[in-house]
Amino acid sequence: MSLELDHLAWSVGGRVILGGVDCTPPRDALTGLLGPNGAGKSTLLRLVAGVLVPEAGRALLDDVDLVRLSRRDRARRVALVEQESVAEVSLTVREAVLLGRTPHGSRWGGVTPRDEEIADAALAEAGVAPFADRVLATLSGGERQRVHLARALAQEPELLLLDEPTNHLDVHAQLDTLGVVRRLTARGVTVLAALHDLNLAAAACDHVVLLEEGRVVATGSVEEVLRPEVIEPVYRVRCHVLEHPETGRPVLTFAPATY
Ligand code: ADP
Ligand code: MG
Repeated sequence: MSLELDHLAWSVGGRVILGGVDCTPPRDALTGLLGPNGAGKSTLLRLVAGVLVPEAGRALLDDVDLVRLSRRDRARRVALVEQESVAEVSLTVREAVLLGRTPHGSRWGGVTPRDEEIADAALAEAGVAPFADRVLATLSGGERQRVHLARALAQEPELLLLDEPTNHLDVHAQLDTLGVVRRLTARGVTVLAALHDLNLAAAACDHVVLLEEGRVVATGSVEEVLRPEVIEPVYRVRCHVLEHPETGRPVLTFAPATY
């Protein structure tokens, strides 16, 4: 399963938000979508997910243009977990996760035992099984974020798009969530995740794409992209890169730029 973003572009009110994004996130891997606030990360994910219609360009998944698929066909292949999901707050956690099965069901059939089984596995995998019967509105932001992940897992996508999935999470829960994502990639799911925290990206990603003002400014391995020369001008900070004592992966430290 390969993903190719081919010159995806989007504008609003005459302002170019994405100016033709090209990149090829590797298959069965976790690609971090990085960039400062307003760089266009959420917009790019929404274009790939079909929530927004691109002005130009294609998003090819195994050479099929996702933009041209019907909603239902796309939802069988692609799941998006938005930054601020509009929560159906009156649903229980289990009901919310079962919604992930909708694109796989027949148009008239209800929930099958197989749907229940898949939803239970997704609840367990995302660590929200203990809340299964709680109403969404009663959960904390971090708990709700994991429920949305569980719903996306129940959707059994080939491509999983995550918009800042670790935002509301404590450090243990952040690592847990990235662990879930890494297990998915091992099972053949391609994941594209907008991440705010460059150190989390350095620790977990196989590949990164760095956006600035709607353009790709760097793409490659963590070691190739998370370097001071690349990061400093884009984030307008000073940056030092250290080596993690256990994993050998880059650890970034930041200081204000001195102009
Ligand atoms: P990121 O997720 O990287 O922080 P976004 O994709 O949310 O960035 O937004 C990129 C830019 O596009 C921002 O400047 C944002 O204000 C603007 N933008 C996004 N959607 C809209 C919209 N519907 N109308 C006007 N501006 C928008
Ligand atoms: Mg965003």
